[in-house]
Amino acid sequence: MSERVIPLLDQRHPSLPLPTLLSGDDLSAMPLDGLRRPLTDLRISVTDRCNFRCSYCMPKEIFDKDYAYLPHSHLLSFEEITRIATVFVGRGVRKIRLTGGEPLLRKNIEILIEQLAALRTPEGLPLDLTLTTNGSLLARKAQSLKDAGLQRVTVSLDGLDDAVFRRMNDVDFPVADVLAGIEAARAAGLGPIKVNMVVKRGTNEHEILPMARHFQGSGIVLRFIEYMDVGATNGWCMDEVLPSAEVIRLLHTELPLVQLDPTVAGETAERWGYANANGEYDPALGEVGVISSVTQAFCGDCNRARLSTEGRLYLCLFASQGYDLRQLLRDPARSDHELAQTVDAIWRGRTDQYSRLRSLRGPDTASGPGRRVEMSYIGG
Ligand code: SF4
Repeated sequence: MSERVIPLLDQRHPSLPLPTLLSGDDLSAMPLDGLRRPLTDLRISVTDRCNFRCSYCMPKEIFDKDYAYLPHSHLLSFEEITRIATVFVGRGVRKIRLTGGEPLLRKNIEILIEQLAALRTPEGLPLDLTLTTNGSLLARKAQSLKDAGLQRVTVSLDGLDDAVFRRMNDVDFPVADVLAGIEAARAAGLGPIKVNMVVKRGTNEHEILPMARHFQGSGIVLRFIEYMDVGATNGWCMDEVLPSAEVIRLLHTELPLVQLDPTVAGETAERWGYANANGEYDPALGEVGVISSVTQAFCGDCNRARLSTEGRLYLCLFASQGYDLRQLLRDPARSDHELAQTVDAIWRGRTDQYSRLRSLRGPDTASGPGRRVEMSYIGG
């Protein structure tokens, strides 16, 4: 087990300078970044708080009772989130994922979901509106989320065995309650439902087959995520990464798989279908996915931007600095057109590809100056 890093300096504050807008900046074409990737996916963190302490995201020793969470006045209001989301939709965003911390801890989140669900693309289509949750509050909230306009959910669940689950999330929360939340989401009509399991070698890899058996044929898509060096506090080391290729090999020993094509460009998960006795994909058995940021980087078509809880725009999960859009949102002299020009200029200048560089150069040399931002602050 490697040495944990204790954050002496909270580095949320420095942000990158906003681009200078040129009067001629037209918004006719949707922006492509420096690697010709479109902006179609926005992840919005609505809180930096969580009721779990997953060791790979919010280790308890760091995010303890003395941790300085953001004061409420720093958080973007629902109206500010909806205004900036409207601007992003005008610049190409078709999918919004609400994240955190734990997004269901944000009071009255249904109000925000109603506002976002009312948004339409320039073509008049609804957005793909989804949310990632640890499932702890889902049983109670599934119906109201659905009624507010949420379409689907992704639930994080790192094992079925309570002791293993506890070792991963470091709180005393029973697996049964998360499973009840998933059932409530299904009953409310939130779907397709996805379940994400972070695999940490030496901690929960023996839960891979039990999880696959549990969700096979359920209509729920289980994805295995390689343990990542996100942020600067989880003490990540390569020895604790179980490459997705090994996960697939393990599954195949008992549950034969066939590889499936991606459903959309920029999809993070590699899809594998459960095979029938003839070795063909059987939709009734369903599929499983692997998300391999460490061993099979997918930066090539990464179309994701991330908005932190207080309105900073990050261009990569492994970024160390972001752009403060809140100052523009709270400046009455700034128009939506200027916001859109700013988003465009920032995106056009984007060249982030941390995972690809990590696989070429190794973890430490791949990231830029400063410490990587915490995943709990910008959402996974
Ligand atoms: S490492 Fe950064 S650029 Fe690459 S896929 Fe992840 S978020 Fe996108």
